[in-house]
Amino acid sequence: MKNTTTVLTQRDNLCIEQCSCCDNIHLMYQNLLLKFTPESFADFESALSKLEFEKRAVTFGDGSDKMLINTPQKEIQLCFTKSEFELLRESLKEALLMIEVSQILYC
Ligand SMILES: [Zn+2]
Repeated sequence: MKNTTTVLTQRDNLCIEQCSCCDNIHLMYQNLLLKFTPESFADFESALSKLEFEKRAVTFGDGSDKMLINTPQKEIQLCFTKSEFELLRESLKEALLMIEVSQILYC
């Protein structure tokens, strides 16, 4: 069965879409797929918007600086370069705005 989804934002290889049957939000980025409820998505956006790259960045063995983000699964951390993090943050903000606009239009 095919689910219907609405693309909220798509840039480079990052896509955020919302499922029309359950309103859940899927964030796809490279080989990562994160699933959120509208509430947990708003919390994620708000938490990320407060993080500062410079404070959380770690230099990796290949010389690149990446910031770490903890997940509820302690074995799994997400890591992003500064430009990847900015792309993620802007996309989250854009997707949230799209959700808010559609709530105003259709509710
Ligand atoms: Zn659904």
